[in-house]
Amino acid sequence: MSPGATGAVASAATVVAGSVGILGGTFDPIHVGHLAIAEEVREALGLERILFVPALHPPHKPGVPLAPAETRARLVALAIAGNPAFALSRVELDRPGPSYAADTVELVAAATGGGRPTFVLSAEALAGLPAWHEPERLLAASRLAVVPRAGSPALDAAWLKGRFPGVAIDAVFLDGPSLAVSATAIRARVAAGRSIRYLVPDAVAAAIAEDRLYRPA
Ligand code: ATP
Repeated sequence: MSPGATGAVASAATVVAGSVGILGGTFDPIHVGHLAIAEEVREALGLERILFVPALHPPHKPGVPLAPAETRARLVALAIAGNPAFALSRVELDRPGPSYAADTVELVAAATGGGRPTFVLSAEALAGLPAWHEPERLLAASRLAVVPRAGSPALDAAWLKGRFPGVAIDAVFLDGPSLAVSATAIRARVAAGRSIRYLVPDAVAAAIAEDRLYRPA
């Protein structure tokens, strides 16, 4: 698979050393909100690479019907094609069981020479962090980069400290971008036969149309 055609693909074991950001998600489908936050974090923190990590089984969305993991991953690959700083990581796809972020960060850290990856998440996701699986392990192994999410209250370092008293926390709060786009809204638009042009990259819109994803049965 050539990076120019489909985006670089990195497993945990093949990730290049250097400053790496991790954007985990369901990506059902990937949209411009994901791409914009990845680019914002990459630029603001001077990261060499952002890994897009589709979850195999997102623990926080139990029972929610999802497009198959390989389909979601293919859409990610299409979306990031041509950006050498962005790569698709199979670290959760190739790992059975729930896709816990703490495990992912530790695997990526080990594969990149033990450095601290930057874990990217929105304020909405951060609000749920205390309920994640072993969040202290995630905090120990990574720096957090928190981006705002339209419609979710802004959170700050004081909030985070209050939730994890006594835990050493390395977190950066960025002030943009705020694009009010969600995968839920995109699936609803497709189901209603509406356009998703400019909400997802053209290649992603084409693949969704071709595979008839998100259409009512
Ligand atoms: P869904 O609507 O199906 O819940 P989603 O649009 O939130 O999906 P995910 O793949 O679940 O997409 O998101 C992965 C990460 O990206 C999460 O941290 C999520 O909060 C964040 N994110 C997604 N869309 C945006 C956006 N428009 N602005 C900021 N953060 C976003």
